[in-house]
Amino acid sequence: MPHANWATRPRLARDGTGTPYADWLVAAFDRWYAAPVQETRIRLFEDLISLTLGGRSRSEQVGLSPVAVVVVETDGAVEQVDSLKSAYPGACSTGLNVLTDPFTAALAVPGVVARQIGREALCRSCLDCPVHRICGGGHYAHRYRPADGFRNPSVYCHDLRRLVDHVQGRVTADLSRLPAGSHR
Ligand code: SF4
Repeated sequence: MPHANWATRPRLARDGTGTPYADWLVAAFDRWYAAPVQETRIRLFEDLISLTLGGRSRSEQVGLSPVAVVVVETDGAVEQVDSLKSAYPGACSTGLNVLTDPFTAALAVPGVVARQIGREALCRSCLDCPVHRICGGGHYAHRYRPADGFRNPSVYCHDLRRLVDHVQGRVTADLSRLPAGSHR
């Protein structure tokens, strides 16, 4: 998904209606999933399948896996991932520097903590959502709303729900066609 949030809406869905991003991704998923030979790997789709099957995600786009990276800038500043810069200036700052702080100090930065605690960081709407374990509230940067920070559903909520439902549907249908016991 292009970086956007509740203050700077996605270009194709500024009025909050429709699922233009999911429509595109669903078509891409169907093409990729049904290909007789896998032509390329697509991490978002692989993550969604893994999560549907009860596994984990490897990226921060979906799922509830803890974020395991920080960025070291050329001046030694330790920052959260660059994508947070799309929310507001300084959003990825930790106030730490490799010249003065151990990396483990980043684990106490509130913004980092929020991305380590899985479902505990989700808003009420996401916790009540039946696909929250798979969707994970979407990309952290896409949840930002100036009035209340990052404890919101993704600005791509409708797209994510459509995409997750579609992937779940395809995978579940395939599993149901397997002989009993063969997918355990
Ligand atoms: S689909 Fe929407 S409400 Fe459900 S977990 Fe994702 S962002 Fe939250």
